[in-house]
Amino acid sequence: MTDRKPKLMNGKNQLAVDNPVKRHPRISPPKQDQPEPGLDALLEPLADHGEKTYKGTGRLKGRKALITGGDSGIGAAVAIAFAREGADVAIAYLPAEEQDAGRILSLVQEEGRLGVGFPGDLLDENYLNTLVDEAAQALGGLDILVNNAGKQIAVERLEDLDDEQIMKTFQVNVLAMFTLSRAALKHFPDGASIINTTSVQAYDPSPTLLDYASTKAAINALTKGLAVQLAPRGIRVNAVAPGPIWTPLQVSDGQPKDALPKFGHNVPLGRAGQPVELAPAYVFLASAESSYVLGETLNVNGGKHTP
Ligand code: NAD
Ligand code: MG
Repeated sequence: MTDRKPKLMNGKNQLAVDNPVKRHPRISPPKQDQPEPGLDALLEPLADHGEKTYKGTGRLKGRKALITGGDSGIGAAVAIAFAREGADVAIAYLPAEEQDAGRILSLVQEEGRLGVGFPGDLLDENYLNTLVDEAAQALGGLDILVNNAGKQIAVERLEDLDDEQIMKTFQVNVLAMFTLSRAALKHFPDGASIINTTSVQAYDPSPTLLDYASTKAAINALTKGLAVQLAPRGIRVNAVAPGPIWTPLQVSDGQPKDALPKFGHNVPLGRAGQPVELAPAYVFLASAESSYVLGETLNVNGGKHTP
């Protein structure tokens, strides 16, 4: 887990606990723009993926995971955490993200784990249909699939939201999950896990994210239904629903530019989350510790209400 030492409170014979309001700074990112997909390397301020803080305790020893979108943001934090928990890790990402991916694969390999990269576009049928088999071959098996890649482009008016964007957003965010999960079942032993990244947008859709929010609601339904279908086989399917997390998705048209300085200020904790704060949720859902947790959506959103 993370490396924060408790401090003695001044004058009081009591240990100070880590305050989640202050655990990470309340950032006010300057207006900035990157072409899609954005790079973590160019984010201002840089995000925290647990590079310096995440400490594993062997909870995924010997496991083999494929994480889509594992180059940056939430997926990168999950890749680091999985490796430090003892898993071998394959990450999938777009070819334009080689710089971010290389950095994360180095961190995985520094743990003495296998770290393998699969650049490609989930909109490319050939890549989509071969990714899981190739990852399983490279890792010598597969028992965790994290469906985390996502596309989010904010559009103010429905009149300006074209069918091409809607279809691409559904393909990357939801339809690819069907194909990748189906392929993973060929390799999965009993006890394997699928974890899908959904969003608070599934319940609280922004008016500028109609297509994106709809995909996230669909992911919740897919997660619950597939969890029931696969339960008798001992394969668990769950989801994580992040709130506002500081990642490159937000600066590559994921938000209207004017919204960036106040990004995440409207949640009860008063600040955006950092990718590192998501990693423990994925570790929990991947590990056997959560053996009785199926079809769950674990909300990691700074306190927003969910159904
Ligand atoms: P991110 O940009 O770091 O990660 C998204 C990744 O998706 C990219 O790194 C990219 O590799 C991948 N991707 C996008 N289009 C792709 C394509 N066509 N083919 C292959 N890969 C593609 O941002 P993130 O915020 O860490 O996003 C990870 C997940 O978290 C997404 O599913 C996103 O919807 C979800 N999420 C993010 C937030 C947030 O506030 N950042 C909130 C809720 C949910
Ligand atoms: Mg990326």
